[in-house]
Amino acid sequence: MKDIKSMTMEELEAFLEEDLQQPKYRAKQVFDWLHKKMCGGFGEMTNLSKDLREKLAQKAELRDTTQVAVQESADGTRKYLFSLCDGERIESVYLPHDYGYSVCISSQAGCRQGCRFCASTLDGLSRNLTASEMLSQVYGISKDTGVRIDHVVVMGMGEPLDNYENLIRFLSLITDPRGQNLSMRNLTVSTCGLAPEIRRLAEEKLPLTLALSLHAATQKKRELLMPVARRFSLDEVMGACRYYFEKTGRRVTFEYSLIAGKNDSEEDAAELATLLAGMNCHVNLIPVNPVEERDCAEPDPAAVLRFQNKLEKKGINSTIRRGMGRDIDGACGQLRRRLKE
Ligand code: SF4
Repeated sequence: MKDIKSMTMEELEAFLEEDLQQPKYRAKQVFDWLHKKMCGGFGEMTNLSKDLREKLAQKAELRDTTQVAVQESADGTRKYLFSLCDGERIESVYLPHDYGYSVCISSQAGCRQGCRFCASTLDGLSRNLTASEMLSQVYGISKDTGVRIDHVVVMGMGEPLDNYENLIRFLSLITDPRGQNLSMRNLTVSTCGLAPEIRRLAEEKLPLTLALSLHAATQKKRELLMPVARRFSLDEVMGACRYYFEKTGRRVTFEYSLIAGKNDSEEDAAELATLLAGMNCHVNLIPVNPVEERDCAEPDPAAVLRFQNKLEKKGINSTIRRGMGRDIDGACGQLRRRLKE
């Protein structure tokens, strides 16, 4: 069975012509149903003949997400637990901002990167998500909330650059003018620091935002928090980020989760400022969401401000990320674990 929602327009045209003996123009109609109207089944494609709908159902599958649970926060954040066609479960988050509506999606079921503060990796990686499964998170949330999603952050469960081909396919489909037509500038891809893939992404020259999960400013400290640091050194990762800026002209965002007693001292802030000196970048400071199974506590607000002040004094721009959804299972992977079957 062909995964029809992951097909580009050109692939869809070839599929309809070669496998179903249909004229090319039918592809536009099907693409419109899949990506503009975000339909959930072939039966909904009412401007196609019944015969063609049946043929489509025989040769192709329409991978959709099924909503298992949703938690709504007082600040309007909604956290979704979706199940996939094989029963795998993933999380996505809807974040209403004053500048638009944003969705944070998962790129893998589970994760194999092992970051010490993260709940998503506790059971390892189950599998990569297809482009259609990434799209279905955005479409499912758009339909559920009744708003057009205009920003997507690939920062949920999984390491997006560990699922490179499907990620690129997703980016191409979500920005297709014949579908949801999102601006590439409104897309953010996060990575824990897979240096070769950062360079590969730079070569694509896409004007999206790269967000590097940094979380520590020295090799030694980073290794303690993120096993990936032993594969790709801080020097290699920073070199790849500079290369990304050179190739795309896009400022890199550095994500820094503040964990009490581990990376939140003024000395840590000074080290971070030294690491980023002279770079065109922005730092997001995120007081960590405590995870039961992990020994990670949130710093007190005064420590967070002291950290930010130190950065500012050294000329590094930063934002303290609004703690959205903290009254629900805020950290990625928590809801999935709590509702595990
Ligand atoms: S923080 Fe991201 S890369 Fe690290 S284990 Fe969690 S999901 Fe994977």
